[in-house]
Amino acid sequence: MGCFFYVFCGYHSPVSFYALQMNIFEKIIRREIPAAIVYEDDDTLAFIDIGPIIKGHTLVIPKTCYETVIETPDEVLAKLMSISKRIAAAQIKTLGADGVNIIQNNGRAAGQEVPHIHIHVIPRFSDDGHHWNWDAKSYSSSEEMAQLAEKIGEGFSE
Ligand code: AMP
Repeated sequence: MGCFFYVFCGYHSPVSFYALQMNIFEKIIRREIPAAIVYEDDDTLAFIDIGPIIKGHTLVIPKTCYETVIETPDEVLAKLMSISKRIAAAQIKTLGADGVNIIQNNGRAAGQEVPHIHIHVIPRFSDDGHHWNWDAKSYSSSEEMAQLAEKIGEGFSE
C-alpha cells in the first residue's frame, strides 16, 4: 500500500513517512490552507474537491490520519460512509443530480494521490458527458475465477 515504514503522527495514528511529508488534507483540517467546507463534526470533514470530475465533487475525510482503508478502523469507515451517504443525498436534493459515484482509492497503484483516506462523492447528471474508462477484462475459464475466489477467501479475516 505504499507504506515504507510506520511512524506516529500528531493524531497518534500510524501513517507512513510519505504520509507525514505529503498530507495536504491535514493542512485543510488545521485550516493552514483554505477549503470549501461542506460538512464538519468532531471527527469528520467534507469539502469540495479542487479538481472535480463533475462540479460539486466532494471529499469526505476523517480528522485522524489513516492512510488507506486497510489501516482505518471499522467504526471510522462506517462514519465516513454514513457521511458520504448524506452528502450523496444532498447532491441529489440540492444540485438535482441524477446519480452519484462513491469512490475510494487505496495506494498509488490504485490512483491514490493523497495518503490520507478519503471518499470521493461525485454528483452525476444524465447529460454530464463523463465516461469512466472501465476497461473490463475477461477470465480464460470458470476454473480461473474459482481459483481466485478461493485464494482471496483464504486471506479473509474477520
Ligand atoms: P486521490 O487520487 O483518490 O488521492 O484523490 C485526491 C483528490 O484530492 C484529488 O481528486 C484532488 O483533486 C484532491 N485535492 C488535492 N488537493 C486538494 C485541495 N487542496 N483541496 C481540495 N481537494 C484537493
